[in-house]
Amino acid sequence: PARADITYFGAGPAALPTDVLETAAQALLDYQGTGLGIAEHSHRSELAAKIINEAKADLATYLDFSPEQYEVLFMQGGGTGEFAASMYNLVGAWVSRQHAAVQKELGEGAAADEAQVLAALRQRVESGLKVDYIVTGSWSLKAYQEAVRLLGPEYVNLVCDARTINDGKFGKIPDESTWKLSKDAAYVYFCDNETVDGVEFPNFPKILEPKEDGTGPIVVSDMSSNILSRRIPVNNYSLLFFGAQKNLGCTGVAVAILKKTFLPPTLSQPSPALLRKLALPIPPIVLQYEIIAKNNSLYNTLSIFDVYIAGQVLKKLLATFPNGVDGQQALAEKKAELIYSALEAHPEAYKIVPDKSARSKMNICFRVIKGGNVDEAEKAFLKESTAINLTGLKGHRSVGGIRASNYNSIPLEGAEKLANFIHEFAKA
Ligand code: PLP
Repeated sequence: PARADITYFGAGPAALPTDVLETAAQALLDYQGTGLGIAEHSHRSELAAKIINEAKADLATYLDFSPEQYEVLFMQGGGTGEFAASMYNLVGAWVSRQHAAVQKELGEGAAADEAQVLAALRQRVESGLKVDYIVTGSWSLKAYQEAVRLLGPEYVNLVCDARTINDGKFGKIPDESTWKLSKDAAYVYFCDNETVDGVEFPNFPKILEPKEDGTGPIVVSDMSSNILSRRIPVNNYSLLFFGAQKNLGCTGVAVAILKKTFLPPTLSQPSPALLRKLALPIPPIVLQYEIIAKNNSLYNTLSIFDVYIAGQVLKKLLATFPNGVDGQQALAEKKAELIYSALEAHPEAYKIVPDKSARSKMNICFRVIKGGNVDEAEKAFLKESTAINLTGLKGHRSVGGIRASNYNSIPLEGAEKLANFIHEFAKA
């Protein structure tokens, strides 16, 4: 089939706008008449810096956050790399804060000697270091497991495991009143949209909101699969991250949006020597936000092509929705509503996997129960949908079923086609 005939509902990498790819194809051969392609130009060239800086500024405009307060970092290692990076950097920040507090405390009497500071700091690590994970699906589970693996289980607190309230499966978000948050955790982590399980937080969790005096928990969120699709209260977060390959661009870069108070001059990461003495993990240098920020994301060779694509997608979004993300959000809601209501219209043929209260607007997960043999029904559903060029609908291999990823690149007509097919398949 021709590209123009297909609606691709794959979960990531996702489809990219055709006009962006056309421009990019030309840029790969010759970037703006330089005789050299965008993937060949030095990442240290002026044109590369311009691409990076424009993408950063456009992201801030579109998502409506202040570049004075938040730093945008282009990271490598994907969303998975950010599971580790978020832990290392925010644990490092916690250690630095404790270090300063201990020095202040001990310094008030006799000048604190190094051994005393270290002993006090060790004590604080042992009694107080906690990182909190809210597990609502496969990706937050993976992030939790990575923290356990790298930092050690003694420091990692499972705030809640959504499977315990839903017959051992993901699909509901446990009520905030049941969350077991640590006191003064180094951070609280959640995944805003669970790509595999189709579970999305309907709103920012109330219990994690900053207090009136501006204090409150240090919140981290993985927004890999719903960033740019809805308005988010960026100010409530210390760190947001996302791989590019769903709503932003192509595989190869991940973005971290970090509150600048976690960076120098306000805060510096502890030295490797100190971390070693505390028996805490030392981050690889490519995962250190401080290093990446200091180098405007160019500590090491960055794929400027990937940043370029992300920048083009942002420019297109800003041209389509001059008021930013709200316009895209309205469209995403409309498309999701079309598909969910088609499924709901035929309860004898389909079962939506997640609970209504936690349904994702980006990854719509359902089973085909028509006729009683789910396996056969889903095979038929996939075969017939593919035949009319609705593709990429197979669910994640770990959970099966059908998943329609309703990312920004799916046009309204694409969602309409799928909704019509859902009706027709049920009735046939
Ligand atoms: N987080 C979420 C929500 C995801 O959907 C994915 C991948 O699909 C990841 C993290 C992992 O990203 P990556 O494959 O870039 O490491």
